[in-house]
Amino acid sequence: MEDFLANLALADEEEEAFQEDAAVIDQNLQLYLVGRCLTDSIVHFPSLRNTMADLWHPIRGICILYLGERHFLFQFFHEVDIRKVLVGTPWFFNNHLLLLHRIQFGKNLSLVPLTFNEFWVQVHDLPSGLMSESLAKQFGEFLGQFLEYDTSIRSVNSHSFMRIRVQLNVVVHLKRKKKVMVGPDRIFYAQFQYEKLSLFCFICGKLGHGESFCPVRTRIDPEKIVFGWDISILAVARRRSVSASQWLREVDGVDSKWIEKEGEFQGDFSGILENSGNFRRNDWGHFHKNPNFTLGELIVRQEKLV
Ligand SMILES: [Zn+2]
Repeated sequence: MEDFLANLALADEEEEAFQEDAAVIDQNLQLYLVGRCLTDSIVHFPSLRNTMADLWHPIRGICILYLGERHFLFQFFHEVDIRKVLVGTPWFFNNHLLLLHRIQFGKNLSLVPLTFNEFWVQVHDLPSGLMSESLAKQFGEFLGQFLEYDTSIRSVNSHSFMRIRVQLNVVVHLKRKKKVMVGPDRIFYAQFQYEKLSLFCFICGKLGHGESFCPVRTRIDPEKIVFGWDISILAVARRRSVSASQWLREVDGVDSKWIEKEGEFQGDFSGILENSGNFRRNDWGHFHKNPNFTLGELIVRQEKLV
């Protein structure tokens, strides 16, 4: 009889459930990104794993698995870490765009659309009176899918421009400009410049390969190939110069007069802008030693995370 009562008591205790917040479990299950390198080249997975972990250095760490066919699974362990990575896109490995998509645990990975990625696009050559959120949305929808209008940065070298966050389909060519009509007869052409653009083909206007590997070459006589895109679609450098602090001294004790270059948006194209006809794919690596990090982007990222 005592054993029977003890068993009943035990059963009651076992049935008393611990109460956990469902949101905690749901959140943990959503801390995954699936990624794909936009390249036909072989991707060295150990290098990618180390490089991206070092770049992102998540506070709670990261687990990266190879899924095959240049696809990867990134598991984060805190919302802050995964959000930091998503806000900072686009990311690159060895100059190859790393397409990222947030997934939910249990979803079929083969159904994840890995042909889209977010970019910041600058819209130039418009009169300041035309710069509005409604027009920014129209441009965003024309380029891909409009996500955000950044009103914090409006000028580089005193030239005004709009800056919009857009989700682009990397399978189609990048758009260069858009005609804007004001009233019956005033016409403007908005010019698009893409920030953090990496390996790009100036023949077909697509990301992921250079001119030497463009499929168009197999269909057109080499003599008749036209470069339909030029470096004007690359966002021009935005350099910051910082005067030395009055407290700083050189090793010999004199005032520190030097000016430190703090960072740049994209790379310094000032030299090749004057002679863009000579710019070829081989020059690319020189101007994109590390497309992942620029000061401007770091500032924006920090602002978003606050
Ligand atoms: Zn091409």
